[in-house]
Amino acid sequence: RAKNDGRNLHRFFEPEMDRRLQARRLLELDMRRALIEQSFELFYQPLVNVGTRSVTGFEALLRWRDPVRGMIPPGDFVPLAEEVGLIIPIGEWVLRQACAEAANWPAPLRVAVNLSPVQFRSDYLVDAVRRALAESGLAPQRLELEITESVLLQGNERNLAILKELKSLGIRISMDDFGTGYSSLGYLQRFPFDKIKIDQSFVRELSERPESMAIIRAVMGIGRSLQMTTTAEGVETPEQMERLRREGCDEAQGFLFSRPVPAWDLPSVMASLLADLARDVGEGAERVLEPV
Ligand code: C2E
Ligand code: MG
Ligand code: MG
Ligand code: MG
Repeated sequence: RAKNDGRNLHRFFEPEMDRRLQARRLLELDMRRALIEQSFELFYQPLVNVGTRSVTGFEALLRWRDPVRGMIPPGDFVPLAEEVGLIIPIGEWVLRQACAEAANWPAPLRVAVNLSPVQFRSDYLVDAVRRALAESGLAPQRLELEITESVLLQGNERNLAILKELKSLGIRISMDDFGTGYSSLGYLQRFPFDKIKIDQSFVRELSERPESMAIIRAVMGIGRSLQMTTTAEGVETPEQMERLRREGCDEAQGFLFSRPVPAWDLPSVMASLLADLARDVGEGAERVLEPV
């Protein structure tokens, strides 16, 4: 019976794997076409200063508008784009687009761009960043690049050198999704990050698991002593915001303030966040922000 099972499984999986392989090839072809036809789009989500409740900038989040599939989130195509190397030209487009759009925002506002570890394999990453800044006229201080721990994995000296070169351009570097990697703390002493973004899983568990608060508190303590800004991701409720504020968190991001929105919607998001700020000014510090 066991022998038979093996054969049957083989017969069963082969066409299944074929279908999956074909689906991937199709997705890859569609991504190539999307690059040419400019079907990628950036959405933006505000980053809010917890103390002043003012917007400090926006994170650019990649979307793919496909005529058949509809709006595709990055989680559904970035992994394959990384596997086949397409994330390098896509990432260059993201850099150019984000810098060009941010150059039109009021001057202190920054734009945060996510970099894939695969982009560090390109010989032209620093050039691409330099070019995006030059073409847009955006001041380097207004650009933040978000990387994950995997960029510094396995004693990667080359990536470290690239990061240092980027920083020397005047750009800010953030550690994204902090706390989800293997030995997060060690990476903080390998590179002088400007910002630590505490992963949303810790914020989500705030009310259910006291340990999450302990971890957030510890990360904020480290951030303070290393002079890195701490940002909490995935803030959804006024209660979460209030607890983070009490613990001295610098910056917050999440659906409480706004979902990621297309560029054309930014003026109205800014206006409503500004209205919240204005309303807050006369009131006590205990007041919590209402969802926009
Ligand atoms: P990330 O950089 O950690 O971005 C934050 C993600 O959390 C975004 O998902 C955002 O929509 C979501 N988010 C924000 N606030 C909340 C909240 O309050 N609650 C919940 N549940 N989620 C929230 P998104 O846009 O689907 O992006 C997912 C990931 O895809 C990003 O995680 C980033 O790693 C990657 N990504 C996005 N854009 C790019 C890009 O241009 N290049 C590369 N290489 N990766 C990108
Ligand atoms: Mg990010
Ligand atoms: Mg993140
Ligand atoms: Mg994330």
